[in-house]
Amino acid sequence: MFTDLNDKTVLITGSTKGIGRAAAVAFARAGAIVGINSSQKDEAALELIAQLESEEARFAYYERDLTKSGECESLIQAFVEQFGELDVLVNNAGGLGVRKGLETLEDDDFERVMDLNLRSVIMTTRFAMPHLKASAAKRGGTASVISTGSIAGREGGGLGASLYGGSKAMLHNLHRNWVKEFTQDGIRFNIVAPGTIDTAFHADKSAEVKEKIASTIAMGRLGTSEECAPSFLFLASHAASGYITGQVIDVNGGQMCP
Ligand code: NAD
Repeated sequence: MFTDLNDKTVLITGSTKGIGRAAAVAFARAGAIVGINSSQKDEAALELIAQLESEEARFAYYERDLTKSGECESLIQAFVEQFGELDVLVNNAGGLGVRKGLETLEDDDFERVMDLNLRSVIMTTRFAMPHLKASAAKRGGTASVISTGSIAGREGGGLGASLYGGSKAMLHNLHRNWVKEFTQDGIRFNIVAPGTIDTAFHADKSAEVKEKIASTIAMGRLGTSEECAPSFLFLASHAASGYITGQVIDVNGGQMCP
């Protein structure tokens, strides 16, 4: 499946844990040359590096904190210097940032959430554009940007997650704008919007809270990172999704409201 991903150069931000990690492993198993990233080369990063080495994947790890524009630029530079091109960018790094009600929000909270979920995506994509355009020109319009949005971008997010939900809504909308600007360059932009996926993202929640959330999901359970990964591959594969751009694929087990 998705055989055209073989030999494609794919950079996935925030990919040592959770959803990004599962996507990185799946791209590598599809034969892609994969860039993985996190802000710290911690135990999770070392564990993924060891796994990819054991699977003889073609990959490189880059330690960059993407809340800083300079590190977004340096990530793209390092990947292209190493592999010569960039065919697919997956903007996955992101997170809740803060859980606080409106009346206690401070400037620092705003900056933290926006840097993590928006500056990271905007600046990484901005510095990737020349390389994505070159890839599209060389391969006949098959370059692709996929960002990880969220059900919170449509439904507003859970209590205390207004900044997070708002940042993901903006991300969904940025993609629609970029479709208008760059479709002529042969680049597609799509979003994978997970529902509640059982990752470190929800580490602050008790088993009871997770059960309560599960009861709002038609399938009656949280999703797994591995269940999200194939949607990234589908949207990266020009053979599978070449006429799909500006769309949001919900991967949420029928969840209506988080
Ligand atoms: P996670 O915490 O398991 O993984 C996040 C990854 O991003 C890690 O590899 C971490 O090292 C990396 N990262 C964090 N900050 C970074 C930074 N500043 N620079 C570079 N890398 C950084 O989280 P997850 O649940 O897999 O979330 C991944 C994406 O999915 C996020 O964008 C999140 O908003 C989105 N999402 C998650 C859920 C969910 O329920 N888990 C739902 C909707 C959307």
